[in-house]
Amino acid sequence: MKSLKQFNTFNLDVKCKELLFLATEDDYARFQKISTNKILIGGGSDILLTEDYHGIVGITQNKGIEIDENSSHYIVTALAGTRWHELVTTMVNKGIGGSENLALIPGTCGAAPVQNIGAYGLEFNQLCDHINVIDKEGNNISISNEQCDFGYRTSNFKTKWKNNYIITSVSLKLSKSWQPLLDYAPLFSLKNKKNLTPKEVYDEVIRARKNKLPDPAVLGNAGSFFKNPIVSAEFFNKLFKQYPNIPFYKQDNERYKIPAGWLIDQCGLKGFCIGDAKVYEKQALVIVNKGQATPLDIVNLAKYIISSVKVKFEIDLEPEIRIYGSNGEISLGQL
Ligand SMILES: Cc1cc2nc3c(=O)[nH]c(=O)nc-3n(C[C@H](O)[C@H](O)[C@H](O)COP(=O)(O)OP(=O)(O)OC[C@H]3O[C@@H](n4cnc5c(N)ncnc54)[C@H](O)[C@@H]3O)c2cc1C
Repeated sequence: MKSLKQFNTFNLDVKCKELLFLATEDDYARFQKISTNKILIGGGSDILLTEDYHGIVGITQNKGIEIDENSSHYIVTALAGTRWHELVTTMVNKGIGGSENLALIPGTCGAAPVQNIGAYGLEFNQLCDHINVIDKEGNNISISNEQCDFGYRTSNFKTKWKNNYIITSVSLKLSKSWQPLLDYAPLFSLKNKKNLTPKEVYDEVIRARKNKLPDPAVLGNAGSFFKNPIVSAEFFNKLFKQYPNIPFYKQDNERYKIPAGWLIDQCGLKGFCIGDAKVYEKQALVIVNKGQATPLDIVNLAKYIISSVKVKFEIDLEPEIRIYGSNGEISLGQL
């Protein structure tokens, strides 16, 4: 059995039967044709491995960035194994604006479309032109932004196409008329700045993230464990009467997104531990591995959080991360 400890950011010492490193399109095509149980992992920063995996794990390792341009746009293509933050840094250093709000998100470019990564008012789908994939028969296909049905932390790659495609590269389209996105509180201080550059926004995003989020190299974690729940206007108004300080983001469709971290904090759970798994003090949405956490510690803590939020607010929190058992993906309820 091979250890996956360095391939998941919770730093859990879970094992698999076989480990394959995928560096070329041929490697990906061969991996697609394997008919036994298999999982693809990029940076392992959005997964929880709950036990030893009775199958093959492929690690995406093809790296590279190519930049083209026309009169109005840059078209930037990154191979799947390229680190997302490296892509953002490369663009910002070349003066190409548009992706800076997504700086410092861990993981790979190939995983970015899967849950449509987002932060500080920007989501991957706002940058995406198209995505290149290999299907189960080993064919290369180009998929347009519209076909992916991107939503809040979701896309067809996570739902109806789950496990059908391996993403081999992503192509972004960035306008040459850059407009900064400064609608989130940590970026307000930049609003009146003259001649603002993408690099200044990038630096501020990194500063804000470092203040709030634990570095997985120091404290194992997978970022936000839960999605921010989106509720109806009727339900929100009821909550608002009871909790006038409740933070919220109004959505386009008369619904309201509520920060899950706030709900967890209101349950008094910041710093709460089960075994070596802990609710991070600076951001209650993150579960950290203090060092020796077992997968069961993390599962039990996640379940405790879900039931506490349900009892206090009648809201069902859903995991943002993907959870794997010995034979493949599972839900928390199955554990
Ligand atoms: C400290 C921290 C902060 C974070 N902050 C954010 C944030 O601000 N916003 C946000 O959206 N996310 C955030 N995340 C979550 C995570 O970084 C992203 O979801 C990231 O895109 C995951 O990339 P990965 O390569 O690690 O994916 P993995 O965890 O390796 O994989 C995630 C899923 O994608 C699938 N997958 C991976 N690569 C491919 C591929 N090439 N083709 C097809 N499927 C693939 C895997 O099978 C798996 O199901 C954070 C995580 C951490 C640890």
